[in-house]
Amino acid sequence: MKCSFCNKEIEKGTGKMFVHLSGKIDYFCSRKCEKNKLKLKRNPKNFKWTRKK
Ligand SMILES: [Zn+2]
Repeated sequence: MKCSFCNKEIEKGTGKMFVHLSGKIDYFCSRKCEKNKLKLKRNPKNFKWTRKK
């Protein structure tokens, strides 16, 4: 699976899963990504450290 924010591959057993009320599931490689996406609602495109396809 891949991080929902930076799109980095997450190794099994690491990272965090977040289930939205809508039923959508997000995976995060780190608390940094989780915070940026959930609390700050930032767009990954604005960050150099995120990976884009
Ligand atoms: Zn990430």
